[in-house]
Amino acid sequence: MYLTPEQLAEIKQSIENQRQEILKKLNEPADEGYEPEVRGDEADIANSEGIAMTMERLRSRDVRLLKKLDEAARWVDSEDFGYCESCGEEIGFKRLLARPAARQCIECKQNEEQRERGYYHPRPRKPAKPIQRDDDDEGELD
Ligand SMILES: [Zn+2]
Repeated sequence: MYLTPEQLAEIKQSIENQRQEILKKLNEPADEGYEPEVRGDEADIANSEGIAMTMERLRSRDVRLLKKLDEAARWVDSEDFGYCESCGEEIGFKRLLARPAARQCIECKQNEEQRERGYYHPRPRKPAKPIQRDDDDEGELD
């Protein structure tokens, strides 16, 4: 273990702070401060549905992060805490403090994100276009 007991305590505190923050957010009513227009035109209705969907997405992201933080809270006491689950390298105190739910070092995380982007948005490689010799004498430019 490369982290000192003080650093571990700080990370635990960071996990707890983030958990509390999310719990507070999740306990707020989703539509707080937002009054859906009852007598609106089509555009307004579509817009309010859009907002509801965005809220729902944000909430589910929070729920996922909360689960990760719960896992981290358990992981922090285990022997392999703080080591990248992909490459086994030290994740590092600063990264763990800022993102206590992180399970990968920054390099592996970035690699993974790049792979995911590649997977979800494959950029097909265009085969190099063969230069076509136009043997038909259509062109009479010269
Ligand atoms: Zn790694």
